[in-house]
Amino acid sequence: MGLRSTALRAVSGTLYHSGLLGPVTRAVTYTKSRPRLPILTFHRVNDDHDPFMPSLPTAVFAGRMAHIARHYAVLPVEELALRLRQGRAPRNALALTFDDGYRDNLTHVAPILKRLGLPATIFLVTGFIGTPNALWVDRVAMAFKIATARRVVVGHGRMLPLGTVRERLLALDAALAHLKRVPNEDRLPAVDHLISALHPGAPERPKRLMLSWDEVGALRGLGFSIGAHTVTHPILSRLAPAQAWEEIQGSKAAIEKALGEPVSAFAYPSGGVGDYNATVKELVRAAGFSCAVTTRRGLNDRDTSALELRRGGPWELHLPTYALKLAYYSATGA
Ligand SMILES: [Zn+2]
Repeated sequence: MGLRSTALRAVSGTLYHSGLLGPVTRAVTYTKSRPRLPILTFHRVNDDHDPFMPSLPTAVFAGRMAHIARHYAVLPVEELALRLRQGRAPRNALALTFDDGYRDNLTHVAPILKRLGLPATIFLVTGFIGTPNALWVDRVAMAFKIATARRVVVGHGRMLPLGTVRERLLALDAALAHLKRVPNEDRLPAVDHLISALHPGAPERPKRLMLSWDEVGALRGLGFSIGAHTVTHPILSRLAPAQAWEEIQGSKAAIEKALGEPVSAFAYPSGGVGDYNATVKELVRAAGFSCAVTTRRGLNDRDTSALELRRGGPWELHLPTYALKLAYYSATGA
């Protein structure tokens, strides 16, 4: 750990344990001349400690949520967007969002949020809900974890060793970076090819990672809001408009059919600047969504497009440092 992060830990620890972090957090809130609000992103929360499938440990997540429950007004993302537009959002409001629809959102996240009375939004990749299938990134990660091959060729002829866990993780990173650049229609065949090179002859037997529709219904019953995140998780800017429409509208229709109520929040897959464009944004509007979240860091105010909401948050396991960084993020968006 560097000197700077050691010092930060010491300062944040002192603030946190002396009870001063609350007043600091509130002071930060009131430096804002008008509400500028964070939307936080989460994926998996569990205690698998699996380096191939990174997740937030349950106890770390529970600590964060207890801090957030004490110092922030947590709103569902749809309501946060609406209240911003109407100019009646609390200055200390924020929203919690979970992407993709992992099963641990029910088994590990829901009990903690329920106990604290915090709302959250889960964005589903509907083509995977209720199936044993996993997103291509997870299939690739799993294949590197259980690979029987001693080395593998990634991309354009680079041969990478698979001896140690560290080598496997490095090779996995290289493979994911390469596959993200492969055109959409070529990606799944390339994934299949890579997986069979990693463990020739062995069928994939993933444990069920994603929620079932019954479990989605249970989460809705617990007060979660359910948003759409496409059918198959493609990069929408790389699709023809007709295909992008199928993905956007198709995921909305699937959730509405399952829950019997309208869905108004959308999350762009990958969600960076180049991952959606003006055409995609228009399609999201035409499908009837009232808000959509990106993965561009920053805060949201009255002038932020409701279809291009900023999202992010600190990455930090040490709770006092997380709490201080969250106060800083909610003040500056950086
Ligand atoms: Zn996603």
